[in-house]
Amino acid sequence: MKKHNFGAGPCILPQDVFKKAADAVLDFNGLSILEVSHRSKDYEAVMHEARELVKKALNISDDYEVLYLQGGATLGFTITALNMMRSTKKAGYINTGTWASGAIKEAKKAGIEVNVFASSEDKNFSYIPKNLSVPTDVDYIHFTSNNTIFGTQFKEFPKTDLPLVCDMSSDIFSKEINVSDFDLIYAGAQKNLGPAGATLYIVKKDVLGKSTSPFMPSYLDLKQHADKDSMYNTPPVFSVYVAMLNLQDLMANGGVEKMASKNQAKAKLIYSEIDSNPLFKGTAAVEDRSEMNVNFLLTNDALKDEFDATWKAAGIVGLNGHRSVGGYRASMYNALELESVQVLVDVMKEFSKKHG
Ligand code: PLP
Repeated sequence: MKKHNFGAGPCILPQDVFKKAADAVLDFNGLSILEVSHRSKDYEAVMHEARELVKKALNISDDYEVLYLQGGATLGFTITALNMMRSTKKAGYINTGTWASGAIKEAKKAGIEVNVFASSEDKNFSYIPKNLSVPTDVDYIHFTSNNTIFGTQFKEFPKTDLPLVCDMSSDIFSKEINVSDFDLIYAGAQKNLGPAGATLYIVKKDVLGKSTSPFMPSYLDLKQHADKDSMYNTPPVFSVYVAMLNLQDLMANGGVEKMASKNQAKAKLIYSEIDSNPLFKGTAAVEDRSEMNVNFLLTNDALKDEFDATWKAAGIVGLNGHRSVGGYRASMYNALELESVQVLVDVMKEFSKKHG
């Protein structure tokens, strides 16, 4: 039976990408991609293409470096703070949930005085703070563009003249963005980019080497990575290779512009069902609802076991909500087809007919 993977990440990638990745495990120019030296010409070409494709996909100018590191977006919290620290050693953070809170915690550990100038913690992170009063006496501003756990997403980015930093782990490549608005963007690969293992950094060249942090291990210094063409040490070889395949696939299928309309169509389909079906209710503020992660609850808890059995029987996987929200979370990353969302919507409709 066909599976419909609504998992929050690691998650679905295009089937063609999986096939090509599997082929390369057995044969990448005569070797396995898993045994090839990262210093070989063949692999250098992979790294080069994987970096260039990010620039193409997001229309990034030569003022930026594209890097693939290890450590996940979690290490990105620290890398951000260390690399963006300047004279004030202060930064403004928006707290929209678990990952933003993690970034705040690590910035403090790195020696930044954090000003949390906006937060949605008062309502269990179910909305995006508005009417921001963005501080001006700090080194940089940090936010998380998509709140993977609570299912909210910035529709407009904060406005500031200060360097803007964003954790885009769960919505990068899902729509067009203006990279020139940012000094630093980082994202764990395991949603719209590739398998877990690589973390993407898009950093303005101007930012590199300007940190005032007294503590800067070489691996955490983005300048070291940029100077070595993202090969400062052994990169996450396989993850970068699959990211390259996935970006090739993205570009061959209309790029992020096309992806944005696909993602909008999926979001429209499921949110209209949630809004019209009395058995379900969304948890995020309507205007802030994420196109990537759709959180909803059953309005009648007594039906939980039966509903769970029903969606599982339809081949749906990964629909359980995060423990901090409960209910259900349908993650609909780029590779999830509209057809899979339709399967879920049909399950919800049928379930409601039976119990309405
Ligand atoms: N930031 C966001 C927005 C995330 O969704 C996640 C993981 O899901 C993380 C950070 C943590 O990423 P990693 O597990 O790559 O460290």
